[in-house]
Amino acid sequence: MTLKLIYGSNKPKAYRAKKGEAEQWVCAICEQNEGIATSAVVTITQSPMERAGKLEGGIKTQVCLHCLMRGLVTPV
Ligand SMILES: [Zn+2]
Repeated sequence: MTLKLIYGSNKPKAYRAKKGEAEQWVCAICEQNEGIATSAVVTITQSPMERAGKLEGGIKTQVCLHCLMRGLVTPV
């Protein structure tokens, strides 16, 4: 399986929340490709390092779970 990295899909939809309220994140790529706006994410660590057999460092980020299952990596 080939993973494809997609940036710029994390724009929240302003019409879903009132001003000052939390917005539900939905994946624009899922909505575009599948017609369904989803909001399941998993946390991954980009570029982790290793010291004495243990991982450290790296950047924690969230990606869309549904995109990941389709072979796409869509950062939130
Ligand atoms: Zn997605």
